[in-house]
Amino acid sequence: MAWPRDLSAASLPPTYAASGEPAPTGTPLRGEAAADVAVIGAGITGASAALHLAAAGASVRLLDAEAVGAGGSGRAFGQVVPYLRREPARVLADLGTEAGERLIDAAARVPALVAGLVSRHAIACDLDSHGLIFAAHSAAGAAMLHRRRRAWAERGIDLPLLDAGEAAVAIGGGRYRAALIEPRGLSLNPLAYVRGLARAAVAAGARLHERSRVTAIARRSGGWQVDLRDGRILCDRVIVACGIELGAILPALRLRVLPLRVHEAATACLPPDMLAGALPRQRALTDTRRLPSGIRRTGDGRLVVTLPGPIAGSRVGDLPDGLARLRALFPRLKDAAFAETWSGWVDLTPDQYPRLVEPIPGLLVGYGLSGRGLGLGTALGRALAERAAGVPADDTPFPGADGPARRWFPGARLAAAVAAASFRRIDAWQARRDASPSSPGRNGP
Ligand SMILES: Cc1cc2nc3c(=O)[nH]c(=O)nc-3n(C[C@H](O)[C@H](O)[C@H](O)COP(=O)(O)OP(=O)(O)OC[C@H]3O[C@@H](n4cnc5c(N)ncnc54)[C@H](O)[C@@H]3O)c2cc1C
Repeated sequence: MAWPRDLSAASLPPTYAASGEPAPTGTPLRGEAAADVAVIGAGITGASAALHLAAAGASVRLLDAEAVGAGGSGRAFGQVVPYLRREPARVLADLGTEAGERLIDAAARVPALVAGLVSRHAIACDLDSHGLIFAAHSAAGAAMLHRRRRAWAERGIDLPLLDAGEAAVAIGGGRYRAALIEPRGLSLNPLAYVRGLARAAVAAGARLHERSRVTAIARRSGGWQVDLRDGRILCDRVIVACGIELGAILPALRLRVLPLRVHEAATACLPPDMLAGALPRQRALTDTRRLPSGIRRTGDGRLVVTLPGPIAGSRVGDLPDGLARLRALFPRLKDAAFAETWSGWVDLTPDQYPRLVEPIPGLLVGYGLSGRGLGLGTALGRALAERAAGVPADDTPFPGADGPARRWFPGARLAAAVAAASFRRIDAWQARRDASPSSPGRNGP
């Protein structure tokens, strides 16, 4: 699949680009270069891998077809969640107790990993550690939050569960049935974060090359050759962390990830009286709809909102829907408008678990962060670096190629588009049903 034009570095969201870490400058690679490790893709996964390798003394070339953060990393909503998409019991059933526990534990540790890197490398990314809030938009959503709370209580983690009144106070509005506070979660400016990781990797000795698209990877005696349009790298090991472009670089892994488009919008900086009371404690709110539903307050007084919209193609997300949600949730925002909108692609695996595979010795591939890559991508990058440094596969928390569903079927994209449309209808129906006069329940905005 060609890299869509609107995902070039020029289309990175100004909301993120204008604050925090400046863009690092990496010159295109021309001619021949040598390295211990070539890292392909300067998103969070690749930048984290390059940083951990360079800090351990390896010589590293970090390459990106566009610019640091130009993929999903620089366009994300911005929450660092300490768990996987699937609940712990399902993870254990899918991956087995040992592998499942390792992955659950790795995910639980990602906020500490991210916060540690931000602090150690003084990354200016508007990190907020007041936690996240998950709200129930329906009775089924409330039941799901109760289950999540019980699952974490069994693991010794107490997540405060708020009733409808408490949820309205914590959120600053809305008519949600319940809300779960996740005190471990973080929110941040994702573009500034990935830029900071890349800056730290360069400071540790990595060489950064932007506008350097890899066209082929081949084995050669004693190592690998990575080809670019105007150059090549001879190296001992290769790390591939190129998000949805996986199949373009490694055709054998073509059906491992499905690219899904996710849409965001942001207001301009809002005056304090307009913002007063909106998300006063936790900066980021997500509700239990099937489709992404975040609303987040940035440090400089903007609201970032995840919009419903087409999961493929180039049409923008549903701005009127996002604005209506925002206004219903926070009536003071009746005059607010969006200043910009953008989108990015998520690399979804069929079972929604990320993977770390080594299809040929010395070729390490990380993929399938499935919309949870801000924290998990940081951890995956570190795991790739460790593997490149010789740590055995058994010691990594990320599953290999095995698992309940390894690859997508041809036509999965169409099926996903149909599923997304019906999820949107189900979400809306549930919210309406639970708000009907015959229902004792309450719903979201
Ligand atoms: C709108 C949106 C909202 C999201 N919100 C969240 C969130 O709140 N929390 C969360 O945890 N996750 C979120 N995600 C998911 C998260 O952003 C991703 O999981 C994560 O950024 C993936 O990082 P990555 O480094 O693996 O891939 P990417 O960031 O996609 O990086 C891949 C890089 O590889 C480069 N590349 C591709 N092909 C080549 C090539 N041939 N040669 C050289 N370079 C190449 C690309 O230019 C790109 O920079 C969101 C994603 C989107 C799109």
